[in-house]
Amino acid sequence: MSLANKLAQERRQRLAAERLLEQKQAELFAANRKLGLHARKLSDEIVETRAEVKTVRDENQRVKSDLTVAHQKVEIAERRLWHSIETIQDGFAVFDVESLMIAANKSYLAVFDGLEEVAPGISYVRILQLITEEGIIDIGDQAAADWRATMIERWQSPSPDPTVIRLWNGQYIKLIDQRGHGGDVVSLALNITETVRYEKELKKARERAEAANRAKSSFLANMSHEIRTPMNGVVGMAELLRDTTLDDEQKLYVDTIKNSGEALLVIINDVLDYSKIEAEKLVLHPEPFDLERCIHEVVLLLQPVARDKGIDILVEYDLFLPTVFLGDPGRIRQVLTNLLGNAVKFTLEGHVLVRVVGIQQENSPETQLHVTIEDTGIGIAADKVGHIFGEFNQVENERNRQFEGTGLGLAISEKLIRLMGGEIWVDSEEGVGSCFGFKVTLETRDTGTDDTTGLSHHLHKIMVIDELDVNRLILGKQIEALGLKAVGFANAAQALEALDQSFDAIVSDHNLPGMDGLELARKLHEDGVDVPIILASQNPGAAEQDPAFALIQSVMPKPTPRRVLFRHLAALGTGQRREETRPLAAQAPKSIPRSRPMRILAAEDNKTNQLVFRKMIKALDIDLKFAGNGIEAVQQYQDFAPDLVFMDISMPKMDGKEATEKIRAIEGQGGPHVPIVALTAHAMDGDREAVLAAGLDHYLTKPLRKVEIFSMIARYRPDDTREIVPQDVQTPA
Ligand code: ADP
Repeated sequence: MSLANKLAQERRQRLAAERLLEQKQAELFAANRKLGLHARKLSDEIVETRAEVKTVRDENQRVKSDLTVAHQKVEIAERRLWHSIETIQDGFAVFDVESLMIAANKSYLAVFDGLEEVAPGISYVRILQLITEEGIIDIGDQAAADWRATMIERWQSPSPDPTVIRLWNGQYIKLIDQRGHGGDVVSLALNITETVRYEKELKKARERAEAANRAKSSFLANMSHEIRTPMNGVVGMAELLRDTTLDDEQKLYVDTIKNSGEALLVIINDVLDYSKIEAEKLVLHPEPFDLERCIHEVVLLLQPVARDKGIDILVEYDLFLPTVFLGDPGRIRQVLTNLLGNAVKFTLEGHVLVRVVGIQQENSPETQLHVTIEDTGIGIAADKVGHIFGEFNQVENERNRQFEGTGLGLAISEKLIRLMGGEIWVDSEEGVGSCFGFKVTLETRDTGTDDTTGLSHHLHKIMVIDELDVNRLILGKQIEALGLKAVGFANAAQALEALDQSFDAIVSDHNLPGMDGLELARKLHEDGVDVPIILASQNPGAAEQDPAFALIQSVMPKPTPRRVLFRHLAALGTGQRREETRPLAAQAPKSIPRSRPMRILAAEDNKTNQLVFRKMIKALDIDLKFAGNGIEAVQQYQDFAPDLVFMDISMPKMDGKEATEKIRAIEGQGGPHVPIVALTAHAMDGDREAVLAAGLDHYLTKPLRKVEIFSMIARYRPDDTREIVPQDVQTPA
């Protein structure tokens, strides 16, 4: 090849190489640029990532420090909690759902006296095992396995009842275990040794106090017995002495003896009752009783005082209210006697009105009874009203000082009513009058509907004469409830003026202003007017002594229970005038032959009491025999066959309870039941039960009251015996 060719070739090659170089350079440049761009992008990314990392790192740092703070707080709280738990004297432990101990404080562990095994991780069952095996607990005579079984059963219950265990050293620990939501159990072991010791001391002190109280109660019972027995003699003899011929001065002395004796007995009874209630010894004795009758009996008792003061006692018993309830008649009577007694005592003129209404409870045999006793007496000052139910509280002022009393009556009444689950209250205005009321809820025992079938068809319109509006209203309502018409007049003159053929009978008050009830009868008789008159009298005995008594149909006690009024109206017969129907008293007995006197046996060892008893009933037409002790009483029962027995309880040789048991045993072999009435000076609760349990039918406490004895005799007089007819018997209807 020529040189030129070679050169040309080389140049071409060089040019080609240069082109290639250029191309490569360009490529390199492009690659470089790309690289540069990439590098910049990368660097941007790195910057970005770095920033992000920093943020995350900062975040981490913050969280970490928060965590540390939280952790520190938890640690402090835990430390404090445990510190507190450790400081408390009582044991504290927590168990997990598997009953394994999670933690326990020192007090809890101290009981185990250094037993290393008792530490977190130990099971409850093992703990029970250890404390029985090591003698840490005193389980008495119980077998360890039994005790553990009981404890495990308790532990497993969803909410274990607290239990008390006794340790070997006499300490008492109360275990309170509480199961939480996750099954954990928090266990508290409280050391109650001091409390138990205190309780024991208290119990001992209470026993001592109760023993002292029992001693006091029986001392009171004995006192009351000891005082009542001779008082019976004093009061009874004074009563008898009063019936003998005495001049005025002697009468005054006798009355003073009797009144002082009775006042003393009231005080003894009050103090006795009060201490019984205080000692929570007073128990109610519910039995069916007639409330209306009970009220009238109390009224009858207070009637002489009211009469002497010229005060009317009125009773308005809701006509549609039943009268028989289940309650303690003795205690209800006591409250009524106190409230009514006060009303009569603190009233100088006007009247006392007892009002009884009732609300029948829905779907229940019970009735809520409201009894109010309203008087027109001296009243009670507003600032004193709040205190009078307190014990020994009396309104202290000039007016009040003229009245006697212990200041215990209302306190006792309030406690009795509260014991019956009731309420007692008073509204009063000084100088105007007072209204005491109580409400009790008692079970009803009868329907309360009056049987009017015995009334004559000829009886339509009745004239009612009474000075007091309220009494005319009461009588009028009672009469109208029987389906008759009643027209009221305030005095005899008005009545006389209005009297015409349309009236079938007159019910007149005895004590009327101007012309009284008996004078009215006399006047009608003189005028030839023939209309039957029923007299309502506060003193039926006196009315019967009056010659004009022959001119009237009958006398009924005032206030009059509606049944009694009904009986008197029914006795008017078939509309015939009194000539054909009277004398009532004589007519009724004719139908039954009555030959023999009633036989009464009185067992009483005390000669004075025998005398009192004999004299008390001397006016009665009866055959009376005495027995000096229980043995004689049983003998007399067989020989004499009494219709009624009065039985003293404490007698020598054989007491009244035993004698009654013997009599009841003889009766058991076939024979009629003879009513036996206990006469006793015992007045404590429990005596009554013992007496009635021995088979006695009734219970009368000494000193004996004529009216009580008479009412027993009247109640049990057999139909075939002669009327007992004493002049002065006022047995409640
Ligand atoms: P006592 O009547 O024996 O004094 P009470 O406890 O029965 O005791 O009565 C307390 C007091 O309440 C009476 O002393 C009297 O001051 C007052 N009191 C009670 N009832 C009435 C009443 N009906 N009218 C006025 N004051 C009364």
